Amino acid sequence: MTFTTRFAPSPTGYLHKGHAFSALMAYEAARAVDGRFILRIEDIDTTRVRPEFDAAILEDLAWLGLRWEEPVRRQSQHMSDYQAALDELREAGLLYRCFRTRREVLDEIGRAPHGPGEGPQGQVFRGAPLPADEEERRLEAGEAFAWRLSLDAAARWLGEGGWTGLVFQEEGRGPIQARPERLGDVVLARKDVGVAYHLAVVVDDALQGVDHVIRGEDLLEAAHIQRLLQALLGLPSPAYRHHRLLTAADGQRLAKRDKAETLRDLRARGVTADQLRAELGFPRA
Ligand code: GLU
Repeated sequence: MTFTTRFAPSPTGYLHKGHAFSALMAYEAARAVDGRFILRIEDIDTTRVRPEFDAAILEDLAWLGLRWEEPVRRQSQHMSDYQAALDELREAGLLYRCFRTRREVLDEIGRAPHGPGEGPQGQVFRGAPLPADEEERRLEAGEAFAWRLSLDAAARWLGEGGWTGLVFQEEGRGPIQARPERLGDVVLARKDVGVAYHLAVVVDDALQGVDHVIRGEDLLEAAHIQRLLQALLGLPSPAYRHHRLLTAADGQRLAKRDKAETLRDLRARGVTADQLRAELGFPRA
């Protein structure tokens, strides 16, 4: 199998150095072994995506010297693929409707006793389907709902031991035990958008034959739930490499800074792609 990796930005802003680093990590890894490099535009969050950011991503990456396979997959054009995966999970009894607002979820988490459900971001949400009559009443009233993955149902579905023994391969670290309980009952279909990130990523990586996921270590936690989804959907699990994040001089993550300098800004002040590549530790284009 040809080594296949991808860079999967969301067009919700202009790319900065941190994105360039991540894109180059994947691109150069593929190039080193004559593998495939895919660019995927993760534009399902219609509340935040803007077409000018999409166009800018292509322009900035081309400036950086990257070449990718055409056509570029845009998630917004493949909603039926994610719907099919959602249907599969729903038919297996693995999802439940959640009518709670964000506020209600936070309140509920706040009330829960601290314990084994605690994840990297603090307490996580674990829920259950509503009683059938209440659910029906709310549906009739036209209340919006999200679909959440039930970890309890997933554990039962997997059988004896649940996800114990389910691992993902992290390059340089070997197998890591998947701990989806660190993220809780994640939303797989949002009230507003219809499909959520974890599901779309897992479906696309499988559909596109991605066998190496190279991305920032801020997404390491996501691998725990994504590995579970791969198991539930019968999809292959790629090898992962979660690379370090670039930090600014003040030690803050670039993405978190209000105004990390964008690649367009760098270009405008005369920085060349090769200069940036060298600064980030990569060979000339
Ligand atoms: N679209 C995600 C982001 O921009 C990345 C998803 C991934 O690499 O799995 O943060």
